[in-house]
Amino acid sequence: MSSTSAQIGVTGLAVMGRNLARNFARNGYTVALHNRTAAKTRALVEEFGDEGEFIATETAKDFVAALERPRRLVIMVKAGEPTDAVIKEFAPLMEPGDMIIDGGNAHFADTRRRERELREQDIHFVGTGVSGGEEGALLGPSIMPGGSPESYASLGPMLEKISAKAEDGAPCVTHVGPDGAGHFVKMVHNGIEYADMQLIAEAYQLLRDVAGYSPAQIADIFRTWNTGRLDSYLIEITAEVLKHVDAATGKPFVDVVQDQAEQKGTGRWTVQIALDLGVPVSGIAEAVFARSLSGHTELRAASKDLAGPTARPLGEAEAGAFADQVEQALYASKIVSYTQGFHEVAAGSEEYGWDIDLGAVAAIWRGGCIIRAAFLDRIRAAYDTRADLPSLLSDKTFAQEIGAAQDDWRAVLVAATRQGVPTPGFSAALAYYDALRADRLPAALTQGQRDFFGAHTYRRTDREGSFHTLWGADR
Ligand code: NAP
Repeated sequence: MSSTSAQIGVTGLAVMGRNLARNFARNGYTVALHNRTAAKTRALVEEFGDEGEFIATETAKDFVAALERPRRLVIMVKAGEPTDAVIKEFAPLMEPGDMIIDGGNAHFADTRRRERELREQDIHFVGTGVSGGEEGALLGPSIMPGGSPESYASLGPMLEKISAKAEDGAPCVTHVGPDGAGHFVKMVHNGIEYADMQLIAEAYQLLRDVAGYSPAQIADIFRTWNTGRLDSYLIEITAEVLKHVDAATGKPFVDVVQDQAEQKGTGRWTVQIALDLGVPVSGIAEAVFARSLSGHTELRAASKDLAGPTARPLGEAEAGAFADQVEQALYASKIVSYTQGFHEVAAGSEEYGWDIDLGAVAAIWRGGCIIRAAFLDRIRAAYDTRADLPSLLSDKTFAQEIGAAQDDWRAVLVAATRQGVPTPGFSAALAYYDALRADRLPAALTQGQRDFFGAHTYRRTDREGSFHTLWGADR
């Protein structure tokens, strides 16, 4: 073992940990390395040892001893029980003031528990969202650390160095808030990512089934969209995927992949927590359900013969105009997804007393992460103009844009319905928009029903107080 000490240590050297460790080293930090299976540690040093200063260790004791104090120990292992196992192994070897940084995709409630437990030992537990996948970890991710302000004072400069930079040069990292705030925000990021991907998928299917374009033509349309207000990483990679031809068959890649989308859980958590907080994230929920539905092959097979309209793709002359309408519908639905996601962040912040700066969250999602997009700079600007914006839709610019898109948005949904193309994301987004702008909702009738069968009472529009009607008394 080397006699120099490391400014940071990474344990868990699978794709994410290994690239994060290299990122720290490439930025001039000495990095201590550890992995349950020591061969991975040795392989990293053999392959990338010349990228910077690494201290390879094999035992927990040597790993902890290699770190300068206060220690900064990053855990990058499988989320859940493995994270608890690793904390149990390392925490007894650490001292007051040291930091354990969990960069895995932990559930924020686990992060809150771990933070509380380690606080008793005066160890700072920093639950940190990291987005950008394998490449982001190496070249600059978007980083969402929670934990104490003291831990951020020590860690922040290092994280700022290794993080992605937005176009204005600002590092894509901020101290999100105490305990689980960072992992909560990462969870909502992933929920928004599900919604973004679903909306793009619906746009693709409309362009294919209603407009009659080929995958390669749709790739070109997405490329054009990527030069405008939809400019984003996900639109960019969608064009790449659609352009790709399967080498074995010569068919479009998208036609040889099984149409069953998988998921790891963060989208589902976003919806579960939104239900607990009472936040309507219908667009994100539809995206999660769309993945579940796609996997129900038995249900889909049993429903093949259900009646539906005959698809009649548009002619070439109308297809171009329809594609423009789909762009409007996609943009409007995207505004709604982000409105819902930011509502959930605000509600979580309120519930747990995190005091999250929503503008700062938008700012750190501008680079490095999967949902990075030019659009996020506009969200940042909206919250900069008014930090307590009740909803993104109450921002004047977004309200104007969505208002200008609504005719086309409706026209796209009419076409989708007529042709039998499912658009759960677009439809849920429009229903949310219309529900928010409605003068009266049928919730009044729901209250009447509740009072009828359960004496749940109701409030009136013309008087204060709680009322109950003696139903059937006049029968
Ligand atoms: P992973 O496949 O989730 O986990 C593999 C790593 O966990 C290996 O280093 C493995 O050690 C270690 N591990 C598993 N069980 C362990 C245990 N009981 N005790 C000690 N170590 C254990 O790796 P990953 O894809 O690099 O992801 C790491 C973390 O980052 C995860 O929490 C993941 O959710 C999160 N994340 C991943 C991405 C991504 O794009 N992949 C993006 C953002 C965040 P061995 O080598 O000994 O098996």
